[in-house]
This record gives sequence, structure tokens and C-alpha cells, in this order.
Amino acid sequence: MKKVVKFGGSSLASAEQFEKVKHIISLDADRKYVVPSAPGKRNSKDSKVTDLLYKAYGLAEEGRDFGKAFAEIKERYAEISDGLGLNMDMSGEFAEIEKRFKAKQGEDYAASRGEYLNGILLAEYLGYTFVDAATVIFFNEDGTFASEKTYSTLNEKLSGIDRAVIPGFYGSMPDGSVKTFSRGGSDITGSIVARAVRADVYENWTDVSGFSVADPRIITDPETIEMITYTELRELAYMGASVLHEDAIFPVRREGIPINIRNTNKPEDKGSWIVQSTGQKSRFVITGIAGKKGFCSVNIEKDKMNSEVGFGRKVLQAFEDNDISFEHMPSGIDTMTIIVHQDEFIEKEQSVVAEINRLTHPDSIDIESDLALIAVVGRGMKSSKGTSGRIFSALAHANVNVKMIDQGSSELNIIIGVKNEDFENAIRAIYNIFVVAQL
Ligand code: ASP
Repeated sequence: MKKVVKFGGSSLASAEQFEKVKHIISLDADRKYVVPSAPGKRNSKDSKVTDLLYKAYGLAEEGRDFGKAFAEIKERYAEISDGLGLNMDMSGEFAEIEKRFKAKQGEDYAASRGEYLNGILLAEYLGYTFVDAATVIFFNEDGTFASEKTYSTLNEKLSGIDRAVIPGFYGSMPDGSVKTFSRGGSDITGSIVARAVRADVYENWTDVSGFSVADPRIITDPETIEMITYTELRELAYMGASVLHEDAIFPVRREGIPINIRNTNKPEDKGSWIVQSTGQKSRFVITGIAGKKGFCSVNIEKDKMNSEVGFGRKVLQAFEDNDISFEHMPSGIDTMTIIVHQDEFIEKEQSVVAEINRLTHPDSIDIESDLALIAVVGRGMKSSKGTSGRIFSALAHANVNVKMIDQGSSELNIIIGVKNEDFENAIRAIYNIFVVAQL
């Protein structure tokens, strides 16, 4: 068995956290390849090293003195190294980074040093080989991920190394310069490494025990999702449930490698499993609930809309011409609703309406703002009757007016539109009926 284990920033924020990480790795000899993030926050008021690097580099780029900001970064690593009794001399590394800051090597280079330095420290502490991500993870000229080159290089390199630390978040461009993924991108590196070595499991260690059925800011102590499919996760992530970087599922998904989200501070918890498919029933009919506020609905009515060929296309054309993407499009016989992000739409509202009028001559166009969308997601919904009925009666009991309903054709999700102010209440009502009532 081979496992790739990625540890997030809070899991590596201090010497004490490093000790936990080493202990976790020592418990399972299959944990061969380790992908670290940069040191994260040690408490809620602390800064992530990545943010400190962006700040210091910002000063360097303006030609200002970044000595103080840089000293703070050095201090973070010194604290870890000393706390672990490593007594590593990193002065050469820091001098090189400082030099490159002064030479304005680029923001991505600067940000990547958080993972780079943490990788060096962790490799030393674990007694693993350090493999610089810039030598094994590649991007194309246009900035997209160079998958084939990366997988073959990584596979070749790691097949000769039994245990290695590969820093997350960055790789290199064809000209050798460093490029990072988007924020939180160490999750992607972990997934890439897992795929390259054909790992049996990709363990992603963080500071929560997996995905919650609903947002803990709305539901106190929500249940954990034990198992979720990649597709279900996509639906929930799109609606704002975030534990893992959205793009991290793609590399492993192709190979069917499961991801196990685990908690560094509670290693005994089993966490959540993200799998390709499963015959296992979820504990509840629904797997998760997630949602977002800040949508607008544009409701268009026209008699005999259903028999007018090309009506929908013309409506969407008006949005496309104004460079607005739509989120959902529920429709009736003579009505059609387009749901869009309010902040994107609002400034172009009149121009879109004018164009819809011009192209389709509707009977009416009515805009409603301040809507929230809630996605109720679950592979179990397909085979159970009355799910939507239960959702709507729960919402009616909670005095929430449902503005829109959209059931995905996969029967994997039901999207419900409510007023922004009903958002939290609606989520509580749905959670109560499907989870609390089943416990
Ligand atoms: N350190 C980077 C960030 O803060 C990447 C990561 O932690 O995944 O975004």
C-alpha cells in the first residue's frame, strides 16, 4: 500500500503541530509521500506565512524596505526548527530568497517559499528525502497545468525514492520560473502526487474531522459526512462548502483514488471519505446541505412561450452579450427564470432587460433580488420517495417561502431559492427533518 499524505497550514503551524504530524506518519508505514502547506495560523489572530510572504514581496516590489516583514517570516521557521531541536541553519536559503525579492523575481516565487521552506524543515524532521516541487510539477506556457510531463516526471522521480516530502502549492513554468496554483493549492499538489504514484489513498489532513452535513456556522455541531462521492462534493463545493480546494478532486478522480479528509488534532476520528462511487447507503437520505446568498432572478413571461422556437436561446443571448453567466434556469410553460449572481448582474441589469425585450418581446420581465440558493445533495435521493415533499413541508413549517425549485436531472440535488433573510432558517429546517429527526 502507498499513501500520499497532505498536511494543511494549521497542521504545520508550530513545532507542536509538527510533532503531531510526525506521530501520525509514524503510525502507518504506508504514509510514504508527504505534501506540506506553509505554516498557517497558530491562533485566530495570527497570520499565515503565505500572507506574510505576499506582504513582504509587495514592499520589495515597490522598492521599499521589507526587512521587518521578512524577519517575521524567518522567526516563524526559527521557532519551529528550534522547538523541534533541529537547529537547522537556513540562513543560506533566506539570503537567496531576499536576493530574489530584491531582484523582483515575482509574486508566485515569493508565495511559494512558504511551502518550500516548510518542506525542507519537514523532510529533515522526518528523515525523508526533499523533492523540490519546481523539478517535478510543471505548467504550460499559458499557465495551465502540464499533466503529462508532470505525471511522468513525478512517477519516475518518486519510483526511486521510498519516502519523500514534496512541498505543495507550486511548480515551474517552461522557462524555469516558479508558478503557484490558486490559494489553497497544496491540496491540488497532494492529489497530483497521489495520481502520479498511483497511491491507494490520498489522505488530506486538516483541522476539521471531514465535511459537515451543513455549515457549522449555522448548525451547531453538525454531523460529519462519512462518505461522499466526487460528484456530490462538486455540487456542495459549488455552493460554498469548502474544506478541500475545488480542483483537488480532478487528478485522483481519473484514477479512482479515494480521498480521506482527516483531522491532525483528532487523528482518531475517521474523517470523511471522498470516493468515485459507492454502494454504501449514506446514513441519512441527504448527504449534505450547502448554500449561498446574493442571487437575483430574472423572470420572463410570454404567452405561448413553449411553442416559440428559439425563445430560450434568445434570452440567454442577452446574458451572453453582456458577459454574464447564469447559474440556473428553471422554466414553466409560459415562463422562464434565469438565476444570476446579483453583484455581477446589477450594474448590467438595464442593458440585459433592454436586450431581452428587443430579442423576445415578452409580456413581462420581473426582477427579484436578494435571493439565496440552497442545494440539498444526496445520492440517496434517487431511490427514496418524497424527499422534495419533506423539504417543502419542513420549509412551510418554518414559515419559509420557497421562491424557486430546481431538481438536477441526475436526481442528485434539489436547489431551492429563498429570500436571503430566510437562508439560515431554511437550512436549519432541512437539517432538522433529514438529520436530527433520524438520529
Ligand atoms: N499556502 C498556500 C495558501 O495559503 C497554499 C495552501 O496552503 O494550500 O494559500
